[in-house]
Parts: sequence; structure tokens; C-alpha cells
Amino acid sequence: MSRPLRAEIRLSSLRHNLQRVRAAAPHSQIMTAIKANAYGHGMARVAHALHEADAFAVASIEEAIHLCESGISRPVVLLEGIFSAEELVLVQAYGLQLAVHCVEQVEWLESANVPKPLVVWLKIDTGMHRLGIAPQQARAMYERLHDCTAVGEIRFMTHFACADDPDNPLTARQQQQFADCLDGVAGQRSLANSAGILAHAGSHADWVRPGIMLYGASPLQGETAAGLGLQPVMTLKSRLIAVRQLSQGDSVGYGAQWVCPEAMPVGVVAGGYGDGYPRHAKEGTPVLVNGQRVPLIGRVSMDMITVDLRGMHASAGDEVVLWGQGLPAEEVAASAGTIAYELFCHVTARVPFVEV
Ligand SMILES: *Cc1c(COP(=O)(O)O)cnc(C)c1O
Repeated sequence: MSRPLRAEIRLSSLRHNLQRVRAAAPHSQIMTAIKANAYGHGMARVAHALHEADAFAVASIEEAIHLCESGISRPVVLLEGIFSAEELVLVQAYGLQLAVHCVEQVEWLESANVPKPLVVWLKIDTGMHRLGIAPQQARAMYERLHDCTAVGEIRFMTHFACADDPDNPLTARQQQQFADCLDGVAGQRSLANSAGILAHAGSHADWVRPGIMLYGASPLQGETAAGLGLQPVMTLKSRLIAVRQLSQGDSVGYGAQWVCPEAMPVGVVAGGYGDGYPRHAKEGTPVLVNGQRVPLIGRVSMDMITVDLRGMHASAGDEVVLWGQGLPAEEVAASAGTIAYELFCHVTARVPFVEV
């Protein structure tokens, strides 16, 4: 038998979560965020499973080309637009849509010789203060794009900073800014990420842009994915490769950090930070052994973790879930001081992916 660690990808859950988006935002088109290798789930497989989505959103032209070459025919949107004027040749060749978030990108379009006008998304900064045109300049930029022969249809988008916290007033202010600065301007609009879709129904507009909820993790603080009707897509599974009977006072792992308070069984699981399991996962981080929660003990190693098996019967070969079905990735992430997005993106290339 080979090393037992693998990432199972449940495509039926991915489709279920897409239906969940449709149910939450029935009047909007859906642009699925599949950047960063579909949050670590495998971009081509995810795009094919989500073929009913209305568009796909990525972060770079390389991601877009990979997607187009995998046979995707739905529109592909570059969320950060182009990074240089030269990329317009590829944008044209692959028929991509692009965000325009700064005046330089407008200038590149103005001086481009583009035979077939492009669909562009003018990105407006309503409060995230990362990318986007200031609201006061939105109209001027719109006019310039409107006069530009390279540009066909102009659409509008903005991005929320705090939609995951339903009580944060910034989301409503961002919606208001967006509406005000585009008052009277025709064109499709998009505001909501996953958190916006589930917590701010008034933000759905023409297009929603779900990411994390498609992969089955909760986008909202204080809400579980299961409670929101989402199913985990990735389950990082492994097995116990040893069960050790240790004595009181024995230490476990690097730094000899965990010291057995009594004679006890300790399980060794194939899976460590070399696979993407977070090295900063705290002692007590939950791990499922035979479907039962046990606490992580000792430091996370490159290839292994160790768990406290007191109170259960387990032996080498028994099944372990590091996150996914039965153990929300958000919970493991919180215990490691991070978010599920990062856990998903960090699964390393040596982990085999299996579609189930
Ligand atoms: C990644 C991204 C999304 C998706 O965000 P989630 O929080 O994963 O739903 C939406 N819009 C933009 C601009 C993004 O970059």
C-alpha cells in the first residue's frame, strides 16, 4: 500500500453548493471564483463540474488560458485585469473579459488596436481600498472607456471588505457608494462575494461572485457551513500509520513539547506541513479517527502529526480525516490561526487528488 494521505474531491457537493448559490440569489447570474487553482481544488475539474455557472473568474491570464485550453467555453473574467498592455493580445485571442481598476489599464485600452471590442468590468473602490477606481472618478473613467474602440460592453463591480460580519455597517455604506457613483449609468453590476450572497440579499444585483461557499466552507463569522446548507468539497483523508503505547512522562515529537500525563496510546497520522497541514495548528486541534474527534498533540512535523487516542480503540490502518466531511475546515483553520481558504490553497503537490 502507498502512503495513505489523499485529498478527496466530491464533485456532487460542488454542484450542490452551486445550487445553494442559485437558491440564495435566484435573479442573478453567477460568476464562480476559481482562481488559485480553484482554491486548491483543481481548476479544470472544478470548472467542468460547474459548467452550469454563467462565467468563471480568475486572477491571471495564465489561469485563464489554462481554463480555456481545458475546453471551457463560458466567459472567463480576469478579476485584476491585465498587468501589462502586451497581455491584450492574449485577452483578444482567448476572448476574455477583464476588470479595469486603474487609469493605466484604461490607457492601455485606449492605445490598443483591438479588432473585436471587449467586455470590461470597471472596478470601483467603495471601501476595500485595495483595487479600484475612486467613486469620484468612476464617471470620468466610464466616459473614457465608452469612447474607446477596444471596449464593447461596460459592466461594473466592487468588492466588500467586511461582508462576513453581518453587523458591520461598512457593507451597507459600500453598496450606497456604488449605487450613488453610478446613478443613471446603464450597465450590469456585481458586488457580492460568498458572504454578500448569504448575508446581504440587497447586494445581489446582476451578477454574484461566489468563491469559498462553492467549496463548502462557511463565509460567515459564527455560522457553520452545515447550518448554511453547504457541503464540504475537499476531504483531506489519511490513516493511522502507528499506534504507540507511551508511558507517563514520555514526550512526543519535536521540541518534546507534549509530555504524556499518564500511560496512554498515541496515534501517528501520515500527513504534515509538507502536505499542507498547518504547522501552527494548536494542541487540541480536532482530528477525526474512525469518525471520532481526538485532539492533536505535539508539534506538526513535515510528514506526520500525532494524536491523543485516550478513550478510544484505534489501531494502525484506521481512517483519519484532517478536514472535510465530518470536520469543518473552518474549525481546523481557526485552531491554526488561519482561514479555510488558506488551508485549501496550501495542499501541496505531493498529495494525490481523487474525485469521488
Ligand atoms: C476571490 C474573489 C471573490 C470570491 O470571494 P469569496 O469570499 O471566496 O466568496 C469575489 N470577488 C472577487 C473580486 C474576488 O477576488
